[in-house]
Amino acid sequence: MNFYVLTLFPEAIAGGLNHSIIKRAISNNIISINCVDIRDFSGDKHNRVDDYPYGGGAGMVIRAAPVYDAYNAIKKKVSEGTRLVYMTPQGKPFNQKTAEEFSKEKDIIILCGHYEGIDERVIETIVTDEISMGDFVLSGGEIPAMAFIDSVSRLIPGVLGKEESFINESFSDNLLEHPQYTRPRVFMDKPVPEVLLSGNHKEIEKWRHEQSLRRTKEKRPDLLK
Ligand code: SAH
Repeated sequence: MNFYVLTLFPEAIAGGLNHSIIKRAISNNIISINCVDIRDFSGDKHNRVDDYPYGGGAGMVIRAAPVYDAYNAIKKKVSEGTRLVYMTPQGKPFNQKTAEEFSKEKDIIILCGHYEGIDERVIETIVTDEISMGDFVLSGGEIPAMAFIDSVSRLIPGVLGKEESFINESFSDNLLEHPQYTRPRVFMDKPVPEVLLSGNHKEIEKWRHEQSLRRTKEKRPDLLK
């Protein structure tokens, strides 16, 4: 899968995703992350991409033209019908189901806003999906874009190793994952649950499922509805 990110801060995206599982997926050519700096399309000798909002009020707004030109620069590289996701607190709340849906795409373009946001006219013209990372406001779309890329990428076959499977992970069946333990057997007088040492895989599976249900009831009863 190829991600194309339209952003004013390409170094944030590049630095934020160059670790561990995602870094390995990039070196194995399973995914690529291509940043396009909106500022390169400012068309302004001072490289400005923002301007005052019509109607007044606080903050600055990213102009439509640089975003549109940055989009056009990558449009020819992506397949027909590629979705363009605008990260915005006004979008559809992101969740694991949405990540699964996007993990089937070949190319995805992500647009990150900044300041007060982006001129509505370019959003109307090029955006196919609006995604929110939650009911809070961040200063830019870069952190949401990184969260999106990370969660979508780990669902692509080959990105996680066998030992890092996502099959039983939280939200996969609308359940939270069971608790996890590793060595030592006793930590601060707390022993590991006996069943996990039993070697009885059927009992272990049963225990894990019960724990999943219990935690979901306790921590996220809304998921069970
Ligand atoms: N004035 C806007 C918020 C702008 S925040 C409003 O009230 O709706 C600046 C940028 O940060 C946005 O353009 C968006 O790209 C990003 N952003 C902020 N919060 C976000 C969230 N919860 N989810 C996704 N993107 C977000």
